[in-house]
Amino acid sequence: MDAEQFRALGHSLVDQIASQLEAVPRGPVTRDESPSAVRSALDLNGGLPQEGTDAATLLTTTATRLFEHSLFNGHPRFFGYITSSPAPIGILGDLLASAVNPNVGAWILSPAASEIEAQTIRWIAELVGYPTDCGGILVSGGNMANFVCFLAARAARAAWDIRREGLAGSHRQLVAYASAETHTWIQKATDLAGLGTASIRWIQTDDELRMDVSDLERRIASDVAEGHVPFVVIGTAGSVSTGAVDRLPEIARVCRDRGIWFHVDGAYGGVAAAAPGVPDDLRRLSIADSVAVDPHKWLYAPIEAGCALVRDSAALRGAFSYHPAYYHFDDHGTNFVDYGPQNTRGFRALKVWLALKQVGAEGYRRMIAEDMALSRAMAEAVTRNPDLELQTQALSIATFRFVPADLRSSVGDKDVEAYLNRLNEALLDAIQRGGEAFVSNAVVAGRYVLRACIVNFHTTQDDVEAIPEIVARLGRELDARMRPTLSV
Ligand SMILES: *Cc1c(COP(=O)(O)O)cnc(C)c1O
Repeated sequence: MDAEQFRALGHSLVDQIASQLEAVPRGPVTRDESPSAVRSALDLNGGLPQEGTDAATLLTTTATRLFEHSLFNGHPRFFGYITSSPAPIGILGDLLASAVNPNVGAWILSPAASEIEAQTIRWIAELVGYPTDCGGILVSGGNMANFVCFLAARAARAAWDIRREGLAGSHRQLVAYASAETHTWIQKATDLAGLGTASIRWIQTDDELRMDVSDLERRIASDVAEGHVPFVVIGTAGSVSTGAVDRLPEIARVCRDRGIWFHVDGAYGGVAAAAPGVPDDLRRLSIADSVAVDPHKWLYAPIEAGCALVRDSAALRGAFSYHPAYYHFDDHGTNFVDYGPQNTRGFRALKVWLALKQVGAEGYRRMIAEDMALSRAMAEAVTRNPDLELQTQALSIATFRFVPADLRSSVGDKDVEAYLNRLNEALLDAIQRGGEAFVSNAVVAGRYVLRACIVNFHTTQDDVEAIPEIVARLGRELDARMRPTLSV
């Protein structure tokens, strides 16, 4: 492809994308299609093509088909999981990053990109109130950011050289502490690190789904008595289910007294520390030894972008760096290969950096505060609807369930609760397939609830107020069909 053709194809693709960005709010969030329907619509059943094809047609038809058969998390009524709408400047940033194509593993291979990543990390730290001289690295998402911090904790706090000796280097067991609300990354992390999920101590939560600090202290004391090595406590700043924020200063005190690494999973809530009206605990991220944040959530970076921050930069290097003979990288600039598991690394910092410059910290504070206000408005609209029951509202997550008006007085009854769980699970499916809006679910105090999370700068007041009506309408339809299964 020569420059002339690249220019023509690029312009036409950008035109197609711009039209699509305008069209998204008018279409469905997603279409209810089977995997085989998607395969045939995109012509995905054939073998590897032996001969090439015309690039112009290929790009145009591929874009058209993708726009017709995808789920759009940029839709104003997409409230599922914690997946944000993509910042347009980030979409362009990814294109620019690919065009420069730096290998951000080594400074010498990516002088400008390495410096941009380093500044992006300092800016993210500043935004969330973390020391800007920390170590850090951009990774693919929250899971990887948490893994990186977990491995830094493991290398720093094992009482032996675990990077060399492995777990066989000691007969003592390393144990990690996390509340029952902790995201499932902790299971993958203990598994991948060779510790096994049995090394996780699941700590009880209080009524507000925050880690019960006295339970934490008891469990640590009993592990120490048995000769185990407590090495990390994981606090959560914005839990994935309900947005709960642990009592970070109290947990930090427990960790400091016992020499345990304190990691905070701020994948969802971390950057909200910058916004007005958040819990005080969230503003205390700076007391953690490490923090994971996720720019592809509340910084609206197009997927993928996560960020690990480690207070002691040497501890991060100390968990990952090796110096093989075939690398000739000196130390006058940051070689990101020393700060994480990846070798060749892409320029994912660019899309994050561009957006931070485009809107500034103040712009983010405003957008995040708006998402939280919209979530509160949704909670109020849910409360006003006689068929819905609000369960929780925190940060930008509201959870609620459909309770048919005539069953309200029987809430708490065992059979009715079991029925409501079945009904709301089926309702989730109906909402997701319907395409009018997209929510996900949570289980709170044994109740199956619908969960709407707003990390979406396209969402308006009208969108949040439309949700209760959509949910109640689909709920009533399902209830009419399912009610015979309720045996009372
Ligand atoms: C989203 C999330 C994760 C996982 O992040 P990914 O970017 O999906 O890998 C971890 N912890 C919390 C609290 C999250 O919200």
